[in-house]
Amino acid sequence: MIDYENLKKLNQPFFDAFRESFNNTLEGGWYILGNNVAVFEKEFAAYCNTSYCVGLASGLDALSLALKCFDFKPEDEVLVPSNTYIATILSIIQNDLKPVLVEPDIATYNIDPKLIEEKITSRTKAIMVVHLYGKVCDMDPIIHLANKHQLKIIEDCAQAHGAQYKGKKAGNFGDFGAFSFYPTKNLGALGDAGAITTNDAGLSDQIRTLRNYGSRIKYVNELVGYNSRLDEVQAGFLSLKLKHLDDINSHKRKLASYYLQELGSDFVLPKVDPDFFDVYHIFNIRHQRRDQLRDYLLQNGVKTEIHYPVAPHNQEAMKGIIEGEYPISTEIHNTTLSLPISYFHNEEDIVKVTKLLNNF
Ligand SMILES: *Cc1c(COP(=O)(O)O)cnc(C)c1O
Repeated sequence: MIDYENLKKLNQPFFDAFRESFNNTLEGGWYILGNNVAVFEKEFAAYCNTSYCVGLASGLDALSLALKCFDFKPEDEVLVPSNTYIATILSIIQNDLKPVLVEPDIATYNIDPKLIEEKITSRTKAIMVVHLYGKVCDMDPIIHLANKHQLKIIEDCAQAHGAQYKGKKAGNFGDFGAFSFYPTKNLGALGDAGAITTNDAGLSDQIRTLRNYGSRIKYVNELVGYNSRLDEVQAGFLSLKLKHLDDINSHKRKLASYYLQELGSDFVLPKVDPDFFDVYHIFNIRHQRRDQLRDYLLQNGVKTEIHYPVAPHNQEAMKGIIEGEYPISTEIHNTTLSLPISYFHNEEDIVKVTKLLNNF
C-alpha cells in the first residue's frame, strides 16, 4: 500500500534530533516564549527574506490576527478565492468582515487577477491571496490592483513555504504572509503552530503584542489581545526541520517532475511556468471520472486525497454568509485528485502510481 501521507515516516529522519531538542527544552525549564521561539522567528524570517517573523499558535490565527491590525469596520469586504481551504474564509468571518469570493483561474487554481476588479466596491479593504497547492499567485497584476484601489494584501502561505514568484519568496508580496506549520505542511511541526511574516516593523510589533494578551510589558495591556503563542517545544522542532525545508521542497519537485513528464494526456496536470517556483504541497490532477479513478487507485494499493471535496460556498456553515454560484470552483472540487507526493515517497512509488494512472 502506498499511503497518501504518513506523518511517522515523514518525520522519521528527524526523530533523533527531535528527541534531543525536546530534552533540551524539557531540561531548560522555560516553556512559553523563550529562546526556541526567538531563534526560530529569526531563522524563518531569514529563510523567507522578510524583515520580521512572529510565531503564532496556528495558521488560522495568523490570518485572523493579520486582519485585526487594520481598522476595518464590521461588514467591510475582503476578497478571497472561492476555492480556498475554509480557514481563509473563517478568518474573515471571525473579524466580522464580509468574505467576497473571486473565482480562480482554472489553469493555476489561484485567484484570477482578471476577475478581481469587478468585485471591488467602496467597502473592499483587502485581498487575501492564497498560494494554493504550493504555487504563488500571479502577484504583479494583484499588487497593481491593490495599489490602485488602496487595498491591503494578506498572503495565505499555509501551502507555500519556500515557493517563489519571479525569484521572490511567498510571504514577501503583501502586508503580511500567514504561515501554518500544521504537521502535513511542507514545513510541519508535531502539533499546531503558525507564524506571520512582514517587512513592516510596526505591523510586526502589533502582531507580537496581540499574540500575548495585547501586552508588551508583563501585566500592562495596551491592546485587546489574544493568546496565540508559538509553543517552545514546536519552535525547537521547527528550527531543526527548517534546515531541511529546501531538501523537502526539492524532493517534492523531483517527484512532481516525474508525474509531469510521464502522466498521459487523459489527466489535467498542474501548470508549469518559469516565473513560478512551485513547492507542490499538493500535486493535484483533474479527471472527469475522478471518483472512479480514486476507487481504482485504492483497489490497486494507492491512497489519494481530495483537496477539497466540498467548495466553501456549498458548506453548511456558509449558508447565509456566501451567496451565488461559483462554477469554476465547483468544477475543480468535482474533478480534482491529489496524488502521493510526500517527503517519504521515493521514485519507485511514483513510477507505480503513474503506471496505474496511465492504465486507467
Ligand atoms: C492549513 C491551512 C490553513 C490553516 O492552518 P492551521 O494551522 O490548520 O490553522 C489555512 N489556509 C490554508 C490554505 C491551509 O492549507
